[in-house]
Amino acid sequence: MGMMRQYELVDRVRSYNPNTDEDLLNRAYVYAMRAHGTQKRASGDPFFAHPLEVAAILTDLKLDDATIVAAVLHDTVEDTAATLEEIETMFGPDIRRLVDGLTKIKKLDLVSKKAAQGENFRKLLLAIADDIRVLLVKLADRLHNMRTLHFVPPEKRLRIAEETIEIYAPLAGRMGMQELREELEELSFRHIKPEAHATVTKRLEEVTAREGKVIGEIEEDLKGKLAASGIQAEVFGRRKRPYSIWKKMERKSVSFEQLSDIFGFRVIVEKPEDCYRVLGIVHMTWPMVPGRYKDYISTPKQNDYRSIHTTVVGPGHSRVELQIRTDNMDRIAEFGIAAHAHYKDGRAGEPMGLADESRAYQWLRRTVDLLAEGDSPEEFLEHTKLELFHDQVFCFTPKGRLIALPRGATPIDFAYAVHTDVGNSAVGAKINGRIAPLLTELQNGDEVEITRADGQAPPAAWESLVVTGKARAAIRRATRAAVRRQYAGLGRQILERAFSRAERAFSDDKLKAALKRLARNTVDDVLAAVGRGEMYSGDVVKAVYPDLEPEKRGSADGKPGAAADGKGWFELRKGENLKFKLPGEEPDTAIPIRGLGGDLPVRFAPHGGAVPGDRIVGILTPGEGVTIYPIQSPALAAFDNEPDRWLDVRWDLDDKAPQRFPARIALKSINEPGSLAQITTTIAEHDGNIDSVSMNRPNQDFTDVTIDLTVWDLKHLSAIISELREKRVISRVERVVG
Ligand code: MN
Repeated sequence: MGMMRQYELVDRVRSYNPNTDEDLLNRAYVYAMRAHGTQKRASGDPFFAHPLEVAAILTDLKLDDATIVAAVLHDTVEDTAATLEEIETMFGPDIRRLVDGLTKIKKLDLVSKKAAQGENFRKLLLAIADDIRVLLVKLADRLHNMRTLHFVPPEKRLRIAEETIEIYAPLAGRMGMQELREELEELSFRHIKPEAHATVTKRLEEVTAREGKVIGEIEEDLKGKLAASGIQAEVFGRRKRPYSIWKKMERKSVSFEQLSDIFGFRVIVEKPEDCYRVLGIVHMTWPMVPGRYKDYISTPKQNDYRSIHTTVVGPGHSRVELQIRTDNMDRIAEFGIAAHAHYKDGRAGEPMGLADESRAYQWLRRTVDLLAEGDSPEEFLEHTKLELFHDQVFCFTPKGRLIALPRGATPIDFAYAVHTDVGNSAVGAKINGRIAPLLTELQNGDEVEITRADGQAPPAAWESLVVTGKARAAIRRATRAAVRRQYAGLGRQILERAFSRAERAFSDDKLKAALKRLARNTVDDVLAAVGRGEMYSGDVVKAVYPDLEPEKRGSADGKPGAAADGKGWFELRKGENLKFKLPGEEPDTAIPIRGLGGDLPVRFAPHGGAVPGDRIVGILTPGEGVTIYPIQSPALAAFDNEPDRWLDVRWDLDDKAPQRFPARIALKSINEPGSLAQITTTIAEHDGNIDSVSMNRPNQDFTDVTIDLTVWDLKHLSAIISELREKRVISRVERVVG
């Protein structure tokens, strides 16, 4: 292919722009040709062929004169004796600005020098946000360089290909230029993973040979049906490109054989309403694949993309993807921001006024604004990392604020990115107007509305489900605060009871007055310390009422030995005034126990805990909270001398949310085949959940078996035990309490 002639360039531009300034184009052509002189490219071609090819690519996008001229001139200032001043004198300030922008970003290394990446990327974004035409020329420049990359020395090739696939291809995609993005990816893929590229290409050809006929049938069938319905439509068959197939194989970890919809059709119609008519015909002709229908006409993507997507099962079980769109939508889908660009031609000297008509350009501006906000260099670098494009999604608040998040982010991450308070109070989300689970993975362009409720605390489990550091840290803080609130709540209940037994008034103000004596800073600190068992309620009562006589207190509940150690006389003590209760008999002063995971920091005794129906007692353990024991537990003997640690507790079960409780039983079983199976079957038949079984064989006749199981309550446990007692193979069975 020979170098494009001067008149050819003018003809190309005139074909879509009758008002083109031919003189301007001619002057640029001659100026650049002279400036580059005898320079050669790596291919051995005259260098000047390169800017001309770049200009030619841009004429395909039907761009304005200034963009075409900037393309012709784009390498002159950097590589020749030409100066910006000269360019301004000859071509005006608009073109000077474009060439200046292109010169500034020409040498930016965006992948290999780690330290400079952030800053270089910032420069690139600022230059292109200043005038989007800088990016259009840059992308065309890169496309031509990629098309001729095989002439470049191998060591340079990889860097250029990586930069292309990591920065320029995603940028083109973000600007809605899909055709350009796909070609850039394809050319890069070839150089970065030559073997993968060759393999995928070969398989693609095999599949085409095998299934091409079916595809042809579908195409004919579709065309016939559309014509019969009087819909004017063009139908194009298309095959996925090797890179998009490879990406899918990588992302979904599937083999080529498992991939479906390698073939697709694009149906181009005149009017938006025709898109839906075509969709109706398609769905009535072939079964649709559930979950693949997407309406980007009613909900366009952030880069302005509009189309209907659906996948159907054609003859021979081939899956076929269809994209249905109008001519205008198709142009924007292919050319993106460039499709808007030429409308502005003729307003010489004015930067392109794209902001009001292109959402892609708005996105770019907002991204640049966002980047400019990062105050520390580290933070900035963090934001501007390559992941900005590759691994980020850009979502919006209902008011249009851009929220940039890493890929995989959920509405929870989104909520925390908006504000910590929003995250902490989030209870639900709407994505693009539809209610969606809080764990949905967000997609680019999603508009996310967070539903909030007061008095919420984020579940601790969210911490492992979010992907942003900000959300994770905030959830951790909120979880810590919630645990502290639980301890403080327990502490308040303990203190209220302690003060009431001492017949003294309790209030936050009284507690506040005693803070110094208690060596705590806040009322909450005291409450939490009591709840955690780090401070005894008796000490708090004494601190608030220092004049209280121990003797008097001792006789107040009339129990001997209580005041011997001078503290805790007003607490309930084992075997004395502890009111062991059955459900329904609890006094008001007992602390309600709901079970695990309730509002109180409560745990059950290990090795055989209490189950509802058991009389229970709570033991405060410093730093841990309350451990619940059945009253018959031998472990309680260890706390006989620490009456302060005993708490009056009662069951408070939620009938609507029944819960299982752990219990332990010990059996002696006759050694014979199937005896263990009989035991476990009996338990299972009676709705017991076995957690673990351990065995010990003291002699050849008997085996000792210990079983940890979960049951609903004491009645349930007793029923299981009596069933087991009926079994001939079991010589003894009893409950174990820890
Ligand atoms: Mn160039």
